[in-house]
Amino acid sequence: MKSQISKEEFAYKLDRLREAIDAEQLLNLLGFKITHVTEKEVRAPCPIHGGSNKTSFRMNRDTKRWVCFSQHCHEDIGFGVIDLVKHMLNMTFIEAVRYLESITGIDIHDEFSYIEYKRNKDRREFIQQMDNRKIPPALTDEIYLKSFRKFRSDYFERAENGGFDNELLDLFEVGGGYVDKFGFQRDVIPIRDTTGRLLAYSCRDITDKADYAYKYLLTEGFDKDKVLYNLFKAKDYMGESRTLIVVEGFKSVWNLHRAGYKNAVACMGSIITQGQQHLLYSTAFNVIILFDGDEAGVKGTVRTLEDMGDKINVIPLFLPYTGKDPGDLTIEELHSIIGVVN
Ligand SMILES: [Zn+2]
Repeated sequence: MKSQISKEEFAYKLDRLREAIDAEQLLNLLGFKITHVTEKEVRAPCPIHGGSNKTSFRMNRDTKRWVCFSQHCHEDIGFGVIDLVKHMLNMTFIEAVRYLESITGIDIHDEFSYIEYKRNKDRREFIQQMDNRKIPPALTDEIYLKSFRKFRSDYFERAENGGFDNELLDLFEVGGGYVDKFGFQRDVIPIRDTTGRLLAYSCRDITDKADYAYKYLLTEGFDKDKVLYNLFKAKDYMGESRTLIVVEGFKSVWNLHRAGYKNAVACMGSIITQGQQHLLYSTAFNVIILFDGDEAGVKGTVRTLEDMGDKINVIPLFLPYTGKDPGDLTIEELHSIIGVVN
C-alpha cells in the first residue's frame, strides 16, 4: 500500500490535469457547437438538454467548470469537467481521467491512487443516496472523522449543554458538520471498541429542532452490545482496585473526566447489556453504577445489581438530583457522591 499517494497529492495532480485541458478542444471533441469564445469562457448551445439557446452552456477556460443557464444541467451532472466527460461519453470516473490524459498528453496515471480516489468518490456518492435517518456506516472511517473534527460547533461548549472546553472535546474527538436528511446539523461523537478501533458515531442535533427521539442518531447497523463508550481509554485509569464507573451517556463520561474520574465508561442506555456485562467482568474488579436521576436510571441500577451482583463487586450510587444526570452535576457534587476512587 506504500505506493498509494495521498488524497491531497492526487487532488493536486487532478488540478494539473484540469489546467492542461484546452476547453475549446475538449468541447469540440465532445461534439459541442461552439458559438462564442471570450477571454474567460467558451459558450455553446447545451447538448445535454438539447436546447436552442446559443450560449446557455458556458465553460470557464481556467477552471474548466461549466454551467447550463437554461436548464441547470450542471445541477444533475456536476459542474466539474470530469463530471461532464463522464456524462457525455458515458464513462466511469477513471475512464474519464484517462480520456483527459490522452487528449492533454499529461500522465497522472497511478493505479493505486486511482483505486483509492475512486473508492472515496464512490463512497461519497453512496452516502448521498442513503437515508440519513441513521448515520451511514460508510462514514465510519478515520479520514471522515478527521474531517468532521474541523467542523465541530460550539454546542457542547455552551453552559446549558455542559460547558465543556475545547481541550476536553478534542480529547474525546468530538466533531461536527454532519447534516441529516431533514437538514439538521449535528455534532459527531466517535465510538471506539476496547482496542480503539472506530466503530460508529452518535450524532447530536445541535439545532434542538429534531424530534426528541432523534436527538442523537447512531450509525446504521451499530450494535452497542459488547461496546462500552470510552473503555479503551478508561481501562488505563482503573488503578490497582480495577474500578470502572458506568454511566448512561457520553456527556456524563466527559463530566466525570473533567472532575478527575478518568475511569468512566458509558453503556449508552439505562441497562447494561449481556455483552457489556462480559466486557466488565473481563476488565474490572469493581463497578460503580452512576445512572441518571430518573425512573429508568433507578430501575437500571437495580437490574444491574441483580444481573451482575454475584459475579463482580457492584457499587450502586443513586443521584439525589431528580431529573439530572451525572453530566449535569458540578465537580463538587460529583466528588461528594463518588468520593475518592483508586
Ligand atoms: Zn443544459
